[in-house]
Amino acid sequence: MNGPILFRNIGTLLSGDLAHPMLDATSVLVDGGVIREIGTEPDAETVIDLHGATLAPGFWDSHFHPYFGDYSPRQRVNGAVERTVVSGVTTLISAGAGHQPGMYLPSPTLPNVQAGSAGHGGDPRRARDARGTKALAITMTEAWRTERPSGVKCYAGTVFAEDGFVRDDFVDLAANGIRMLKFQRPISRIADAETYRSWAAELGLLVMTHTGNRSMTKDVASIRDSLRAIDPDIAGHVNGGPTPAPREAVDWLIDHGRAALELVFIGNLRVAAHVLRRAAERDELHRVILGSDLPGGTGVVPGAMLRTIQLLSHLSDVPVELLVCMATGNTARVHRLPGGLVAVGEPADLVAWDPVEASETDDFLDCVAYGDRAYPGLIMIDGVVVHHGNPLLLSPKRMPTIHRNAPALAAGSV
Ligand SMILES: [Zn+2]
Repeated sequence: MNGPILFRNIGTLLSGDLAHPMLDATSVLVDGGVIREIGTEPDAETVIDLHGATLAPGFWDSHFHPYFGDYSPRQRVNGAVERTVVSGVTTLISAGAGHQPGMYLPSPTLPNVQAGSAGHGGDPRRARDARGTKALAITMTEAWRTERPSGVKCYAGTVFAEDGFVRDDFVDLAANGIRMLKFQRPISRIADAETYRSWAAELGLLVMTHTGNRSMTKDVASIRDSLRAIDPDIAGHVNGGPTPAPREAVDWLIDHGRAALELVFIGNLRVAAHVLRRAAERDELHRVILGSDLPGGTGVVPGAMLRTIQLLSHLSDVPVELLVCMATGNTARVHRLPGGLVAVGEPADLVAWDPVEASETDDFLDCVAYGDRAYPGLIMIDGVVVHHGNPLLLSPKRMPTIHRNAPALAAGSV
């Protein structure tokens, strides 16, 4: 599909921007992979008629765990990324490659598959050193630059903090495209955490914490004190992955930290609703971003992003169009990346949504608020239609149609 593409008959146009989440326009022109015009209807080689359905920026999953290619070893599942894209997600942010078999084993005592592997003769300490975690982060970054199942954008450049890093490691990581340092498992000393934090800031790496029920360093018992020392840019799964931090640490992050507050599908949804309400009271909804924390021990849920939006709409007064911003524009901005918005000049990563066929509702926003399922009928990434029609079991009410206009004949030709 080359040349300009015009989306027309858009019923509801969502922008991904909290300042004006719904745009007063019925058309969007895409060319060269980029949104060129909004609200105009010029001639275009390809016209996509939405028949009144909703057009929105593709969702960003701010907390995904990519492995190699589209295989998830913990679930022994192929195709999780492709199914995630078909469910309306166009961008994945890696929260770290934490579960590569044999490459990063958190603990021989944890009651999970990694402990099982350690029990069979593996040495978990061996995979837990600065050299190994750095090599893995660089390898994943390289691999996901070219591996794009269904065209997905996957930012895989996340490295775990480990004991033993020196400043040159950070220089090397930054030069190799690593964009985020994540405190995942406790490192030994809080002084090292503070040093890593300053190197990350110096070299332009974002800092994310595994925000849960354990301290980030071994020499500090208080979860809150370790969070204070690390001063994260992003408090990863502040509602737990799966168990949240104590409420006083969560409230400290909201009231005194400056971090983006990430809420994930697999966490504690009551705590997520609490964070959302507090952020709304503080007029700080721009700090909230949404993710899945999948695939992982909890399973593979390709529709997790929409489901999280829906559940949070039931548990709070925040309208669906604002929750969509937390899964699109907010995330792009927090990660300092382009996209997540329906705006001129932004990448054309777009999804056409409509209520499931049998729903009593007739509009995507009403459908999600009501509690029915909505489905994408068309998904575009970088101006390329990667899915049309619905390969999932159920269909949206209004399926977009694609019309190709014959190219204009050159003057003088017959
Ligand atoms: Zn995670």
